[in-house]
Parts: sequence; structure tokens; C-alpha cells
Amino acid sequence: MYTPSIQYSKYPFSLPPLPYDYDALEPYIDAETMHYHHDKHFQTYINNLNKVLEKYPGMQELTLQQILMRPVGLPPDDRDAVLNNAGGVYNHALFFDGMAPASQGGHEPPDRLFSQIKTNFGTLEKLKEQLTEAALGVFGSGWACLGLTRQGKLRILTLKNQETAIRQWITPLLMVDVWEHAYYLKYKNNRKEYAENLWHVLVFPEI
Ligand code: MN
Repeated sequence: MYTPSIQYSKYPFSLPPLPYDYDALEPYIDAETMHYHHDKHFQTYINNLNKVLEKYPGMQELTLQQILMRPVGLPPDDRDAVLNNAGGVYNHALFFDGMAPASQGGHEPPDRLFSQIKTNFGTLEKLKEQLTEAALGVFGSGWACLGLTRQGKLRILTLKNQETAIRQWITPLLMVDVWEHAYYLKYKNNRKEYAENLWHVLVFPEI
């Protein structure tokens, strides 16, 4: 069963290195966007999560997954800060890990996932259309996600801001970041072109 490894990480969190060069996803994602997105935006979620957890030694023992699932006993402001920033860490780790240079393999689903895609969507093209459409349908900042339910069904979901699939008991398989910081430098307001181009670099995991 596919499990994102980030969910086992613990306080103090540190920025996972980018698993490829900053310009490796060109021309679909430009190096400047990657620098800002990974080194600044992602780093900020890490810093802010560590900062709020400084106050709660009990939570420092928990894995990221546990933090996301059970942020209990916190005042509402800190609970929001924990969920927003832990969600930002979780989603971005998946996003950056879930891409690879277009010239590399992995951009076609492995057999098991492929047959599940055919069962749930009919064809790979249909899945791509629906996930892209979901990405375009997110109002404001958020994510589109292909996820696997506990019952083994594939589902497309959208997440506002830094909500996470895991809090809906869904394992995220593909993540599409539709915050403007993910595409604005290169694509400006053209989220559609960005979402379509992302298919060149998204990697389908084994399930
Ligand atoms: Mn982002």
C-alpha cells in the first residue's frame, strides 16, 4: 500500500531537499518558480509549524500524520496554525516528490494503478480531464488531488488552502497545487495552461 513517507517525520521539521534540480522541470515549471516555491513557501510552512509546536512539547513527539489527525487540546488559533502549517508541509512534500523531469519515467501509471484508473474513470484521458477540471474549479487557493479511499476506490477531490486528503481518510496519489505561487511567475493568470502542462512532470505512484 502506498504511504507518503513525509507522514512519519517529526518535530523539528526540516525542509526536504528537492529530489531534482531547480530547472529539471523546465519548460513546464520554471526554475525561478521552483526556487521560490520550494525554498521560500515550503520553508515558511516548516518554520511556522516548528514555531507553533515549540509551545507544545507533547505534540513534538507526534508524527506529522498524528499531528494532522489529532490536533487536540489546543486553543483555536494555535489549532488553526498547526493544521494550516502541518497541512502545508504535508501537501508540499507530496507535491515536490510527486514530480520528475519529463524525460524521466513514471509519467504513465504503473499496472495496478492503471487498471484501477480504467475501473474508476474509463480511460487515463478521462482521469486527466477530470483532475484538470477540478484544478480549474478551485476557487481561490488550494489543491486538486487524486486520492485512494479506504475502500480502494480512486477519487478526485479538491482541498481549500492547506486542507489535507489524509484528514478525509484518503491517501493522496497526485497533487496539483493551484495556489497562485505555484504558477504565477510563468503562467500569470493562466491556471489552465499550468494544470495541463503539469501532466508532463507528474509521477504516478505504485499503489
Ligand atoms: Mn504551494
